[in-house]
Amino acid sequence: MLELILTAATSDDADLRDQELPRSRTVKMPSEPGQRLGVGRDPSRCALATPKDWRFVSRVHLEFTFTDERRWSVEWLQGSHTRPVALVQIDREGVSEPVPYGATLPLGGRRAGRIVISDLARRRRVIVEWRLSLPQQADDHPGQGDNVPETQDVAPFVLQNRLSDTEIEVLTAMSCDWIHGRQVKRAKSTRELCSLLHLSPATVERCKTKLRREFYSSGLCPELNELLGPNYLDTVRHVHGGWDLIAQTAVTHGIAGRGPCPCGGQPPRRTPGV
Ligand SMILES: [Zn+2]
Repeated sequence: MLELILTAATSDDADLRDQELPRSRTVKMPSEPGQRLGVGRDPSRCALATPKDWRFVSRVHLEFTFTDERRWSVEWLQGSHTRPVALVQIDREGVSEPVPYGATLPLGGRRAGRIVISDLARRRRVIVEWRLSLPQQADDHPGQGDNVPETQDVAPFVLQNRLSDTEIEVLTAMSCDWIHGRQVKRAKSTRELCSLLHLSPATVERCKTKLRREFYSSGLCPELNELLGPNYLDTVRHVHGGWDLIAQTAVTHGIAGRGPCPCGGQPPRRTPGV
C-alpha cells in the first residue's frame, strides 16, 4: 500500500505564520504492478490536484508508479518547457536532495518520505508525503536475528521530513549546547539566532513557530506534553524550559546535530558501535 498526502503551503516571509492552505488530501493505492498516480494542476488527469492558479506546477507534474521490479518510483515528467519553472526536492532514507528535471527515482526502502515542488522563489510549496507498507518479502530480510526494530526511528524520521532545511538549521542552532555536550552556550535570543544564521527575524520566528507545533504534535517528547499541558506551547510566547526539552529531544533522536553546527564548534566524539 502506498499512501500519499498532499499539502499546499505558502511560506512567505511577510507572513509570520507558515500558512497551510486547507487543501490537504490523501490517496491510498495498492502496491500492484501497473499502478500509477499523477500529481499536478490538471484534476482530470491527477488523483492529487494542486491549486489551479499555481502555474509553476505542470498539468501532470509527478507520477508515482509501481514498477515491474515491485517497487514504487516517482518521476518528474518533462513538460513542454526546456527549462523547468519549478524546483523539486525529495527526502528519503534520511537524505534530502534535488530531483533533476525529467528524472525517475525510487522511493526507497524506508516507510516514509516526501517530495516537495516549489516555485523558483520558494514561496509556494506543494508537499507530497508518502507512507509505504510493502508486503514482507522473504528474500528482503536475510538474517532474522539482526533485524533492527524500526518503530524507534519512524517518528523522528517523519518529523525530520516535515521540516525544511531552514527549520533544521534553526533547530540545530538552538540545540547547540546539547550537540556539544553543553560546552557551548547556544544563542539565547532570536536576535542572536538571526546573526548566527544570517536569517531575518521573521524567518526565524516562523521556523520557531513551526518547530514548536511539529514537536508538540509529534508524540516524540511525552515529557514535554506531560510537563506543559495540552495547549501550553501554543498559548505562551516564551517557553525556555520547553525549548530546552525540544533541543535535547532533537539531538537525542538525531533530528539535529548530524551535520555541522552553525556555530562552527565540533561535536563530541561518539564511541563507535553504541
Ligand atoms: Zn554549535
